Amino acid sequence: MDNTIVSVFSNDTELSKGVRSVLTKKLISRGYTVVNEFSDNSSLIICIGGDGAFLETIHECDFPEIPIVGINTGHLGFFQEVLPENFDKFICDYENNDYTLQRLSTVMCTVTTSKGTVNRHIGLNEITITGRKSYSIHFDISIDGKPIEKFSGDGILVATSAGSTAYNYSLGGSIVDPRLELLQVTPLAPMNTTAYRSFTSSILLPDDLSLGVVPESPENRIYITNDGIETGYSNVKEIEVSASDKHANLIRFNNYDFWNKVKDKFL
Ligand code: NAP
Repeated sequence: MDNTIVSVFSNDTELSKGVRSVLTKKLISRGYTVVNEFSDNSSLIICIGGDGAFLETIHECDFPEIPIVGINTGHLGFFQEVLPENFDKFICDYENNDYTLQRLSTVMCTVTTSKGTVNRHIGLNEITITGRKSYSIHFDISIDGKPIEKFSGDGILVATSAGSTAYNYSLGGSIVDPRLELLQVTPLAPMNTTAYRSFTSSILLPDDLSLGVVPESPENRIYITNDGIETGYSNVKEIEVSASDKHANLIRFNNYDFWNKVKDKFL
């Protein structure tokens, strides 16, 4: 690793592109080499944009161990730490090691088809399992290998703690402090009938338990969406959702407070 190499990513808004240009000049004038791609040699990744841009960068860099900091040009960002007007302080605090690293957990799902193919998807926010639009989907769900419910509805969402403030919250799930390592399973429009019984609220699982999902009609198409990235499957035999061993290491400065962000965004 080279302490002077910084990888800078941004979304395509005019504001983000402008911020990127000013920041790049500042970093170069301080002796850094700026690259616009992921490099194992970088000591820092900077992402300019909103939370959506942050998710994109984390996926593009394949959940790097290298510290990452977000410059917020979107709405109030949960991942984005620095405001563009505070660049100078950010660079100064970074150079003085005046920050902490927030290690965020991720969620993973393994999809096995009846043809034996196995695919893996990882989410920093969440993974959703749904059927075709406008059709309900039926699953047998188990926790740690033990049958728990017969689900019918639009699907399920499994959120990390950091992702609890995103889609999970819109579905009525709970906000979770990212210091807690757990998985939150939230139903999407569950139907409770005499044939199908499922929880109507979120359930919380410790991160060493896994969730098993077996579709009742494997011939029906199933969609896995990890942080907004959708993949469709046919002939799914089973899906296992669990915590993953990948993480994101976010730079946080002294004024970071998760619950203040929650209050500012939602209340
Ligand atoms: P998008 O649909 O363009 O934007 C989703 C919104 O969610 C943006 O406002 C984004 O903030 C915000 N967001 C992302 N991660 C967040 C987090 N951890 N806490 C609070 N807000 C968060 O999609 P996108 O930008 O590619 O982001 C993908 C995410 O969208 C998914 O991971 C999912 O959580 C979320 N989503 C939400 C809903 C819903 O709430 N009904 C539906 C589908 C997907 P910025 O404006 O700062 O980018």
